[in-house]
Amino acid sequence: MSGRLRPAEMLLQSLGVTVPEEIDVEAIAWYRGAKVRYRALESCEARILGHGDRAVICVDSRKSPERRKFSVCHELGHWHHHRGKCLACRSDEIGNASSKNALDPERVADGYAADLLLPRYLVAPLAAQVSKWSLARIRELAAPFGASTTATAIRLVEMDVIPGMLVSHKTGGRRWFARSPSAERWFPQDQLDADSHAFRMLFGSETELRAPSLIGADAWFDRTGADRYEVREQSYKASNGEVVTLLLLPAEMLAVSVR
Ligand SMILES: [Zn+2]
Repeated sequence: MSGRLRPAEMLLQSLGVTVPEEIDVEAIAWYRGAKVRYRALESCEARILGHGDRAVICVDSRKSPERRKFSVCHELGHWHHHRGKCLACRSDEIGNASSKNALDPERVADGYAADLLLPRYLVAPLAAQVSKWSLARIRELAAPFGASTTATAIRLVEMDVIPGMLVSHKTGGRRWFARSPSAERWFPQDQLDADSHAFRMLFGSETELRAPSLIGADAWFDRTGADRYEVREQSYKASNGEVVTLLLLPAEMLAVSVR
């Protein structure tokens, strides 16, 4: 694995974490001086109240286990980077891939959360055992980390383990996308092409495909020359109603890896 360890990854290594199942976020929070409580929250999804070197993190108990775990990691990100502030985080601030401002405190907290939930030094060796990527393989990898399909897929494309991208649409158009460094010259279209499976899933009643299927790349990209290539697409419906598509790009479409 290339790249220096980030603060959350260094914390995990200092605690001797060597397998995903050992990432106990409540124990890690305790070690960092923060108690975690779960209760129904109305005005936000999670918050942290800090005083000196002690803090209490509250997370909405009605969310899925994967979402609650990510939220604890997100608040620990605030505790690491924005100590001394009391913060309440709305659902659209936690894990919101549509915001690209790297200096936004919510994105900084999400970055820390991804490093704590899915540290690269544990993800990379597991991902290296996978030869053909699909949603099923991503979910298998996500399970021992207790991470969502979306958080794990974003991690894998941003690490360039999966060359391609993850694109999310609602009926009004594209919400967000995440892509691998090797796919940076490709920019997904705003509106879904009627030929895409994602379109039929969003506007029709089609359910998830069992495996990625081939489609002309011009259905997803309007760049000149896109019609010369084919990509593989596999879409799923996220809990918030968005249709998220994994796009696997062939080697001919990729830049030489910039890792
Ligand atoms: Zn936040």
